[in-house]
Amino acid sequence: SYHSSRRLQAKNRPTSTGMAASGFVYLVGAGPGDPEMLTVKAVNALQQCDLLVYDRLVSKEILALVPEHVDKIYVGKRCGEPSLKQDEINQILVSFAQLGRKIVRLKGGDPFIFGRGGEEALALVEHNIHYCVVPGITAAIGCAASCAIPLTHREVARSVTLVTGTVVTGSLPAWSAIVEAGQTLVFYMGLESARAIEQGLLGQGVRADFPVAIVTQGSTPEQKTYVTTLATLEKTAVALKGVSPALIIMGEVVKLRERLKTTLAAVAPMANASFVNE
Ligand code: SAH
Repeated sequence: SYHSSRRLQAKNRPTSTGMAASGFVYLVGAGPGDPEMLTVKAVNALQQCDLLVYDRLVSKEILALVPEHVDKIYVGKRCGEPSLKQDEINQILVSFAQLGRKIVRLKGGDPFIFGRGGEEALALVEHNIHYCVVPGITAAIGCAASCAIPLTHREVARSVTLVTGTVVTGSLPAWSAIVEAGQTLVFYMGLESARAIEQGLLGQGVRADFPVAIVTQGSTPEQKTYVTTLATLEKTAVALKGVSPALIIMGEVVKLRERLKTTLAAVAPMANASFVNE
């Protein structure tokens, strides 16, 4: 909150020895895209910082909430150029914090879910820099809400597992055990591995018509939901031609969408409700 962050800053002021780090880093989750899915704490941090370090998954609408006088550093991928290495991003955070800057490091979704927030926090700790973590709505939660797929549901799914699709090289983890036990499986960064995921799970004996949904640009006005099956996961993914970001949700809960989408309305920014049951 405003008051606690003021307190922390006061505590952080350089001591007479000049040894204490005077800056501060907020590791902030921006949520899945819809600016109204920011937390109040995130908005406060955006308005109180003097330096913003942000990446690709942060929308224009959210950047527009940052006051003009705030310096902004983009550290994400642009036009196919490689993004800054994690070490370089850590270095930016550390050196500006050491200069006494009040930094918001803004990331898509939640900083601690496939967001490398832990790595950045470790770098800050290593340099004795004070920081806090402002959680964000992670893609799985945001997409589930805006496409009407409950990630758990009584008597359908008793748990949900978030995995990264990028580990799909060589041997596949035993995901079949997860989905067959009536759990929901959500893949981040999984679209490029759609083939490996499909073949791996079919190979592990999961049935061909196992329910799968792909949600692209979740929570934004461009959101699309594709309901398919395990056997046609790759085909559906290829047809999307790299639309990004995209999330894969697998499990019996996907079937609930058919009924739940019927009266689902998107509450657009400024509260103009519109139907999204496409
Ligand atoms: N820290 C982020 C995840 C970063 S990894 C979070 O908590 O959400 C990037 C992956 O997140 C993408 O490949 C995609 O799978 C997923 N993702 C992020 N935002 C999304 C969105 N609005 N719609 C669909 N998938 C999204």
